[in-house]
Amino acid sequence: MSGELVTGLKCRLCGKLYPKEALNFCTDDFGPLEVAYDYEAVGRTFTREAIATRPRNMWRYRELLPVDGEPTVGRHVGGTPLIRADRLAKLLGVAELYIKNDAVNHPSLSFKDRVVAVALSKAVELGFETVGCASTGNLAGSVAANAAAAGLEAYVLIPEGLEQGKVLGATIYGAKVVAVRGNYDHVNRLCSQIAFRYGWGFVNVNLRPFYAEGSKSMGFEIAEELGWRAPDQVVAPMAGGSLIGKLHKSFLELETLGLLNGPVRTKMFGAQATGCNPISNTVKTGAGKVKPVRNPETIAKSLAIGDPADGWFASKLIRETGGWSEDVSDDAIVDNMRLLAETEGVWAETAGGVTLAVARRLIDEGKIDRDGSIVLCITGNGLKTQEALVDHLPRPVVIRPTLEEFEALVEAGVPAVLASA
Ligand SMILES: *Cc1c(COP(=O)(O)O)cnc(C)c1O
Ligand SMILES: [Zn+2]
Repeated sequence: MSGELVTGLKCRLCGKLYPKEALNFCTDDFGPLEVAYDYEAVGRTFTREAIATRPRNMWRYRELLPVDGEPTVGRHVGGTPLIRADRLAKLLGVAELYIKNDAVNHPSLSFKDRVVAVALSKAVELGFETVGCASTGNLAGSVAANAAAAGLEAYVLIPEGLEQGKVLGATIYGAKVVAVRGNYDHVNRLCSQIAFRYGWGFVNVNLRPFYAEGSKSMGFEIAEELGWRAPDQVVAPMAGGSLIGKLHKSFLELETLGLLNGPVRTKMFGAQATGCNPISNTVKTGAGKVKPVRNPETIAKSLAIGDPADGWFASKLIRETGGWSEDVSDDAIVDNMRLLAETEGVWAETAGGVTLAVARRLIDEGKIDRDGSIVLCITGNGLKTQEALVDHLPRPVVIRPTLEEFEALVEAGVPAVLASA
């Protein structure tokens, strides 16, 4: 984690190098910037033995996270369970299935705490006192919570009409929450203007290169838990398209450093909702560029980014790794939220329903190999998207406190499953 491990920011289009500053695009060609490392220097301290002695959180992999000093924000983030999902595997007819459960990530119950921990630690290093984000919901809660714990002032901008759990889950931390009349793309554009106008640190705007690197920690954890091997197949939900790319990058970095048993042959599968499918559409049509979705319309609000910043790179990666992408209906999302809960005891938010629904579809179509290992990335918690379920689950049966009434109920059968399922 010494300053020399990160050599700078590099343009993903032309390769031009920039210093480690709050800057997210190349001034020559507007290409996105990515953190560049000196892997030889990283390898001096980043060994399996050294990693094994460190606490089970994302900072176990600190040499490959772009913070120069000690992390100051989100020091307990990560270290979420990788669950062997045998009951679900049996139902799907696959051999080796895992759930990476970031629905229980600390502190705000989504994978966004990983990206925020890095972005805000960097914001502190760069001297920002006010931070912010453009959010589809989970980022709002994560920036608000982590900023509160770090004593930073936070402005959180969201599209109007998000779920109550997401809105309260940001407001409770004392952040300034602003709902914008419009969709995420309007919010994002406004945030670029605000970051420039006020000189604040917006985690997914001017701090985006650092932010995005935080997602790699999810991949590092998966590989280490699997006995230092990259899975054969990963299914990840896509909003802006950043997470899926960083998962793959994490495996490649471990390979570069000689930490894996065997080569990386991971096929990446991307999941979206049909109501907002710009990336899956690009993969399926083989289009030369991403066609934005102007009016996203889905219950998977956390994934509703019509004009995804990393959409092109995500679709390219999916095709190059031999993976694929699909999108699914809102009904399928709800059914699969329930299936995940009923088979594995994991209550994921709508994005988790998207991931499982897409995985099932791709397994059925033979695009996902039933005999290879499969990791499903569950990225957010069901408590935050209750609106998606209230009309789809049975209400509790009410009885008087007598054994007779309970017996009559058991006799008749307690309604546990809705007819629609
Ligand atoms: C933000 C988010 C994602 C995906 O994010 P990317 O923008 O593609 O990196 C996935 N799931 C949930 C629940 C999210 O909040
Ligand atoms: Zn460039």
